[in-house]
Amino acid sequence: MLAGRTGHDNVVIRGARILDPVESFDAIHDVRIDDGVIAQIGERLDTNAHVVVEGAGGVLVPAFVDPHVHLRTPGREDEETIASGTAAAAAGGYCAILAIPNTDPVVDDAEVLRGLRARAADEAHVPVGFMAALTKGQDGAELTELGALSDAGAAGFTDDGRPVGEAGVMRRALQYNAITGRTIAVHCEERSLTRGGHAHAGVVAAELGIGGWPSLGESLMVARDVDLAGDTGQAIHLMHLSARESVEHLRRAHSAGVRASAEATPHHLCLTDEAIRSLDPNLKMNPPLRSEHDRAALLDAVRDGTIAAIATDHAPHSPEEKDVPFESAPFGVIGLETAFAALYTELVEPGLLRLETLLERMSAGPAAIFGLDRPRIAVGAPANLTLLDLESTWRVRADGFRSRSSNSWLLGRRLTGRVLLTIAAGRVAHQ
Ligand SMILES: [Zn+2]
Ligand SMILES: [Zn+2]
Repeated sequence: MLAGRTGHDNVVIRGARILDPVESFDAIHDVRIDDGVIAQIGERLDTNAHVVVEGAGGVLVPAFVDPHVHLRTPGREDEETIASGTAAAAAGGYCAILAIPNTDPVVDDAEVLRGLRARAADEAHVPVGFMAALTKGQDGAELTELGALSDAGAAGFTDDGRPVGEAGVMRRALQYNAITGRTIAVHCEERSLTRGGHAHAGVVAAELGIGGWPSLGESLMVARDVDLAGDTGQAIHLMHLSARESVEHLRRAHSAGVRASAEATPHHLCLTDEAIRSLDPNLKMNPPLRSEHDRAALLDAVRDGTIAAIATDHAPHSPEEKDVPFESAPFGVIGLETAFAALYTELVEPGLLRLETLLERMSAGPAAIFGLDRPRIAVGAPANLTLLDLESTWRVRADGFRSRSSNSWLLGRRLTGRVLLTIAAGRVAHQ
């Protein structure tokens, strides 16, 4: 399902605190990687002429998996390419990402998909899974050939960027997808309620005189889609949840035994609509930043595992597109290079979220939803590791990104937590 470069490295990481919450592993040791595979974990390991990384003071964790990245390729290579987007992912501590198919052309046939996978085999710094569209041209009418796309290596299916407007189409997609075993991911938006909306329909938007995008515009679609998943007996993944009501629908679905999973983004977990009083276009996203009640509900759901994945929804935009008045700006922000540090600074350091929980939701959680191998620190496992420095701080700068775009909500902010090293599928991807 994942495509990337081949080749493996020989590395010894010395004296780091190894923290793998799923394996219940927390101890200071050396790790030796032979030919891309974790060969030994222990004291004073023989370095065998391998590359040696001094890990003392650092924390070595299972590398992250981002199930929601817009690589803008093909079509907008000025905003991101497979090479730049995966370099950004590696710098953010990710060993695997899933790319969203709302490109130009849309990834809705096997030819386009095969072309992307071939390019990733040449260019990608970390392995990429390419998702394919659920409907042709993402126009919400005619289903793509799910079986053929899955055979050609599609990592899942989504019309993200757009909702699937008709319930009947969504139901048929779930039924047909039973043959592929891939995950369907949905952007939940009822367009008849969100048209003309630029910010959460609440006090802040009203005071600023900006068109509102109400919570119901999301939660109504969440309710529909979990009901359809329940009716068909198929699994569904809800992308970028933002509203308290959506979390409530998801909890009800779980208690009814529906196979529904969900993700939340760093921006929805860290910010509320109060932030948009600055009218910074880098705070405009779809779905919009919501109220403190909503943020608290999302955080609760991440804590207890109702929301099992954190996804960046990394959405690069050129300065020409984004440096315009708030209401004219497109939705979306980048996030790969800042996700861990933003969440560590805003949630872990103040004691709102345990580090172990954050690590799990950024790695094992998303991997399980999309059927990817769980990054783990254990002898015999492929090396998918990230070495973190949780002491040092850094300032987010527009000229500091590997991404081709710099539309970050964190510009100028000082964050705690740096990624020192990323090893993805046995290759050193970032150091
Ligand atoms: Zn979306
Ligand atoms: Zn998206």
